[in-house]
Amino acid sequence: MIPYGKQEITQQDIDAVVDVLKSDFLTQGPQVPVFEEALKAHTGAAYSLAVNSATSALHIACLALGLGKGDKLWTTPVTFVASANCGLYCGAEVDFVDIDLKTYNMSISSLEEKLVQAQATDSLPKVIIPVHLCGQSCDMKAIHALSKEYGFKIIEDASHAIGGRYLDKPIGNCEYSDITVFSFHPVKIVTTAEGGAVMTNSQELADKMALYRSHGITRDQAQMQNESHGDWYYEQIDLGYNYRMTELQAALGVTQMTRLDDFVSARHKLATRYNQLLTELPITLPYQLEGTYSGLHLYVIRLQLNNISKTHRQVFDELREQGIGVNLHYIPVHTQPYYQELGFKTGDFPESECYYQEAISLPMFHMMTEEQQNEVVCVLSKVLENK
Ligand SMILES: *Cc1c(COP(=O)(O)O)cnc(C)c1O
Repeated sequence: MIPYGKQEITQQDIDAVVDVLKSDFLTQGPQVPVFEEALKAHTGAAYSLAVNSATSALHIACLALGLGKGDKLWTTPVTFVASANCGLYCGAEVDFVDIDLKTYNMSISSLEEKLVQAQATDSLPKVIIPVHLCGQSCDMKAIHALSKEYGFKIIEDASHAIGGRYLDKPIGNCEYSDITVFSFHPVKIVTTAEGGAVMTNSQELADKMALYRSHGITRDQAQMQNESHGDWYYEQIDLGYNYRMTELQAALGVTQMTRLDDFVSARHKLATRYNQLLTELPITLPYQLEGTYSGLHLYVIRLQLNNISKTHRQVFDELREQGIGVNLHYIPVHTQPYYQELGFKTGDFPESECYYQEAISLPMFHMMTEEQQNEVVCVLSKVLENK
């Protein structure tokens, strides 16, 4: 089976992890700050905190922005559930903004419409989480402009997008957001096995997120209420979690980051080839929004079902049966049983639901060979032609 995504682990990665195992620190040592420096150097953001997953990163980002009971968080339905769940962790209400027809990212016109309605009913969101689906940046300038008008905070879910660019600057620089979140799960672009990070340009937010990452505990006298009792002393000044990244993960992240640009350019070569090889088929190829350079975590096609004699499910199953490890990103979050229980209904976000009925993620990982890619194209062509 040609998988839809796959990590690359080199001898350099293995050596870096083994070195940590032989060192004095398995956690809370020197590698995590080195990894955070690498993320800052890559993105240009002022602050970076590595954590144990993007899910944790989204949670502490929401907490740092003061999201709580009575507040509202909006995101896109076409994302992994974690982009929405973080709002529920904080006791906030979650709602969604339907997707754009071309980019499949949060639609700016739907967002604007929904904000106007929310203003009229005094129910504006406190936080909005645009997700850079497949690695392609949302129209951040437009979202940022709306945030100034309607007073919400922005967390970019860039779990798919490290190494991508927006208006010629690295995604994660937080020029148009308060916080950006990355994921380092093995299927994503760079991996630390499990792991995530938050980026921000605000020292205040960075300090808060540092507290939430580690039990709400500080060793900084400036943040303490009492005089230090001695060198052992620390204070818990808020309720935090243990969301720390280990040294093993960070060491892996450091060596992976040195290859990030190669990873993304290899993905672009593959995407360009797919774009050329698939033009004749009854499918819609990924759309590239002007001013964006995708991280290309995913390569999503949409079936033009009117021109295909098979169902979406049949095409998907036949591809899998013939060794093509396709996948589907994502089941719209509002259609999940847990969210239906909260009151969402099928039909609430029609563009997202329509996308779900047509989308297929083709294999896309930077070590994929041309032979493997030819195989994907060949099988897909046969499956779609075979009426
Ligand atoms: C993978 C992913 C997450 C969660 O990442 P973890 O590191 O697995 O917690 C969140 N949002 C999106 C869009 C993702 O793809």
